[in-house]
Amino acid sequence: MEARRCTRCAGLAASRTTVVFGAGNADAELMFVGEAPGANEDLQGLPFVGAAGKLLEQLLGEIGLSRAEVFIANVLKCRPPGNRDPQPGEIENCRPYLLRQIELIAPRVICTLGNFATKLLRGDAAGITRVHGTPEVRTLGTRSVRLYPLFHPAAALYTPSTLETLREDFQRLPAILALPAPAPAGDPAAAAEAEAEPVPVPEPPRVAPSAPATEQLGLF
Ligand code: URA
Repeated sequence: MEARRCTRCAGLAASRTTVVFGAGNADAELMFVGEAPGANEDLQGLPFVGAAGKLLEQLLGEIGLSRAEVFIANVLKCRPPGNRDPQPGEIENCRPYLLRQIELIAPRVICTLGNFATKLLRGDAAGITRVHGTPEVRTLGTRSVRLYPLFHPAAALYTPSTLETLREDFQRLPAILALPAPAPAGDPAAAAEAEAEPVPVPEPPRVAPSAPATEQLGLF
């Protein structure tokens, strides 16, 4: 596959161990897009296999989903050295791979995890703190999809209030997945109607689910 030998970002191509393309169910209704591989992901060639991935799996489990049922990818397919932020040129270089993945998997709902995925797929500079937990129908390439921005699990590992918000936002996912498929791209009236559909917001669970001991988990 072309991406496995990608050299569009010379620096990343030189420092990476593997291209972390993505993993999961290629027919998934639900897709997650994170930021970029960390050290564990770079070594194993799989996304979200470190501490943030364990939290993601736990939150999925709390709404009755498993990792195998969803598809997980990242904005960047190569690890930025030292886990630095993705650079604009790298995001631009890698964007066609992500859009192609979205086209092929054709999910109904995409959860963007954190600022980089959210800004890229919403095409807007609004930050995750402002837009998390609000689903919206967007056209990506030739398809309409419900984007659902969430805090990045890595940010929730060390900040209990962020974890609480992330968990509450996760609890709304089953209701969002149950909505009808978004209107096809190019049908503005239907799209406006879909956009206006209220998303039922279930009460967050009162129990304290077995939160990961955040202090025991390294970030990547
Ligand atoms: N963080 C990400 O954004 N992606 C990964 O694959 C792992 C950690």
